[in-house]
Amino acid sequence: MMNIDTLIKNGFIIDGTGNKGCHQLVGIKGDKIILPENESEIVAKEIVDASGLVVAPGFIDIHTHSDITLLVDSRGASKVSQGVTTEIIGNCGMAATPYPPARKNEIREAGSVIYAKEVEWSWEDYEEYLKKFQITGVSMNVGFLIGHGAIRAAVMGFDDRKPTEVELERMKQYIKEGMKLGAVGMSSGLEYPPGMFADVDELAELCKVVAEYGGIYSTHMRNEDDYLLDSIKESIEVARRSGVSLQVSHLKAVGKQNWGKVNDAIKLLENACHEGFNVNYDFYPYTASSTSLTSQLPKWAQEGGWARLEERLLDEDLRQQIKKEVTVKLETSVSWHSIMIASVQTKINKELEGKNLEEIADLKQKTPVEAMLDLIYEEKGAVKMIKFSMSEQDVRTVARGKLSMVGSDGYALAVDGPLSMGKPHPRSYGSFPRVIDQYQRKEKLFSLEEAIYKMTGAAAKKLNFTDRGIIKGGSFADLVIFDPDLIKDAATYTDAHQYSKGVHSVYVNGEKAYEKGKFLDPKSGMVARTGTHD
Ligand SMILES: [Zn+2]
Repeated sequence: MMNIDTLIKNGFIIDGTGNKGCHQLVGIKGDKIILPENESEIVAKEIVDASGLVVAPGFIDIHTHSDITLLVDSRGASKVSQGVTTEIIGNCGMAATPYPPARKNEIREAGSVIYAKEVEWSWEDYEEYLKKFQITGVSMNVGFLIGHGAIRAAVMGFDDRKPTEVELERMKQYIKEGMKLGAVGMSSGLEYPPGMFADVDELAELCKVVAEYGGIYSTHMRNEDDYLLDSIKESIEVARRSGVSLQVSHLKAVGKQNWGKVNDAIKLLENACHEGFNVNYDFYPYTASSTSLTSQLPKWAQEGGWARLEERLLDEDLRQQIKKEVTVKLETSVSWHSIMIASVQTKINKELEGKNLEEIADLKQKTPVEAMLDLIYEEKGAVKMIKFSMSEQDVRTVARGKLSMVGSDGYALAVDGPLSMGKPHPRSYGSFPRVIDQYQRKEKLFSLEEAIYKMTGAAAKKLNFTDRGIIKGGSFADLVIFDPDLIKDAATYTDAHQYSKGVHSVYVNGEKAYEKGKFLDPKSGMVARTGTHD
């Protein structure tokens, strides 16, 4: 007789490898999975009847920005309710650390997308930041990426130039520190300052260090519209020179004139794969993206960070130049009503959340571009937007690709408490159920086993997680039990703060984190490290 904590029986087990599912017993003992042969050898404290339900490894969200939000609310509610048990934070070059005293303001700006004022940034380096997670406790596992933007800002601020030898060494030092503490790799955000000031030489040099430690290079590429294919080539070139394992972030083609280019992008990535490079990409199942509104401004206007941008917005000539460039760029790819304001910081502009730039222009009796620049100015750059810019067909193509994984590009949020503000992108609440409901069940782009693989085993393999992402004896007991006929996203663009439906229960390291709409907040999350048993 074997005493265990939980026995899940009658469930249809999809183990995360992509193999066909089958009916099998799954047990939890402590924080690990056991696979009993038959029930008679088991005494369990809790028995879960999973008749008609699927049992899968907890989902790994390989692309998130929950760096701060998980410290604000340990439940990870919008994610756990989808079945996500591990968040990979520090994406798009943005991270909350390193955070040396001399560069604090610049680094908070570099991480403006992850910024949440509810938490005091009381750390200076990776070690202290991770300790903060341990002290606070969190109900999901967290794997962290070193943010290239964050280390560049820490070493050289927002300068538009190459690093000196000494500066490059200092950045490498940060990477070593992070990797030794268990980082899963490094991310870049080449469309944002200061990442946009880095060239291939710099990125390849830094990625050599990442590769030495077996980490991945996750890149928000330099361009996702007219120069998408050049950006793909640049990413592959970094992998070629450094030997790093490449993860292209949120693959998409922005702007009508570029729709369809994802086919060639995927071909380039698959060719690199055939050449022997380790290449993958992630996607979220929506046709709108979301980022900071300032990302729509020309690169030169963003050089030097907010302080310099503010000066330029006040300078009549420079402001005219910015207006001209923004207008040309926007009107050739999307339109003013395709940009919706997701969140602002000031009370006075709260009423603009959920409105598009055309509506705001009408309201303010200004042109859309004037309304946009004024809003950026009033909010000191901290405005988030949702931009409707992709084609449904492209999203399908990207989803179906063999190299794809699901990554929300969102945050762990909640319908109550400090994280329930604004009109965030629905991907924070619905990405995983939406892939299953829309692209698997309704459109049959792939089997349920393949869908689960893109959410679990594929990410675990990429990240060298040897003990997560697959249901096998001895692995950490990260599990989701869901109804394959009912699982569905509920969040919409106008009302994102709604939990997904159809997830029965979720276990994180053997502890129940979610059951039938209730969050148990066991704070059983761990730092998920590459290739090690933590
Ligand atoms: Zn990004």
